[in-house]
Amino acid sequence: QFSQNRYYLQRKDVVSRHLNFSRFAHKGDFGRVLLVGGSYGSMGAIRMAAEASLRTGSGLATCLVPSCGVDILQASLPEIQVFSSSSEKYLSLPYVKEGLERFDAVGIGPGMGTTAEAEDFLLDFLMTFKGPKVIDADAINILARNKGIQQYLGREDVLTPHIKEFERLVGICENHKQRLEKALEFSKAHGCVLVLKGAHTCISFPDGTQYFNSTGNKHMATGGAGDVLTGMITSFLGQGYGVKNAVLCGVYQHGLAGEIASVDKKRGTIATDIIKAIPKSYVTLG
Ligand code: AMP
Ligand code: MG
Repeated sequence: QFSQNRYYLQRKDVVSRHLNFSRFAHKGDFGRVLLVGGSYGSMGAIRMAAEASLRTGSGLATCLVPSCGVDILQASLPEIQVFSSSSEKYLSLPYVKEGLERFDAVGIGPGMGTTAEAEDFLLDFLMTFKGPKVIDADAINILARNKGIQQYLGREDVLTPHIKEFERLVGICENHKQRLEKALEFSKAHGCVLVLKGAHTCISFPDGTQYFNSTGNKHMATGGAGDVLTGMITSFLGQGYGVKNAVLCGVYQHGLAGEIASVDKKRGTIATDIIKAIPKSYVTLG
């Protein structure tokens, strides 16, 4: 803690938040997660989120994508299941709602695009699935152009905007201090967690606290790094961490994985390297 209600998120703060699982655990205990997103030409984003959730420990990962993504995902990530909504290139209405309650957590937004059909789909989905969600990327961009977004956001939901996405939500800020204030305001007003990404990612909680991350480095400034974070937080939500522990562990460990990946790659680090380093981040945490 370095000022009232402001904390610097360090190793000791997260090790105590990690859950231990029984030697008799089965895959259901590690959570079933659903990653929702992708569009024609942007299927990699949701694939990376899904792989990151598996590498973080999810028992089962499923993707919901437009129909053009089904074969791509099945071929490139054999561990997952895939189903699709009705249209070919963008998520759309209608989609299968029966059985959605089997998912312990949802990550939504990466690669989904901001077309009218994706928008109709997103707003319907957010009203339908009431479990914990990570709302990222184009899902944030769509919310930003809608009014009354309160109705779509719940107490177990986490928004993960980078600075541009955040300013689409709340308006252009004069400086970073004002951004941090507006992030806390947003979290309090909407009752959800707001993760403002960047160097020293700032996590705002509705109770008025803010945590600043200590891990990560500039080599994580690469396409797809945020999709990996979405998959990791979704995974911890699905494993039953509870929203606060899931976000703190996810943000910290994502940064740690980035540090590990970049040790021998430096500027050559790419998002899939961060995914590959997630298992080692568990080893480093001890
Ligand atoms: P996105 O812009 O959605 O791909 O997300 C980028 C991810 O990389 C976020 O988790 C950021 O916190 C992280 N990141 C980007 N630049 C830096 C940096 N300079 N230092 C630390 N982390 C970074
Ligand atoms: Mg992103």
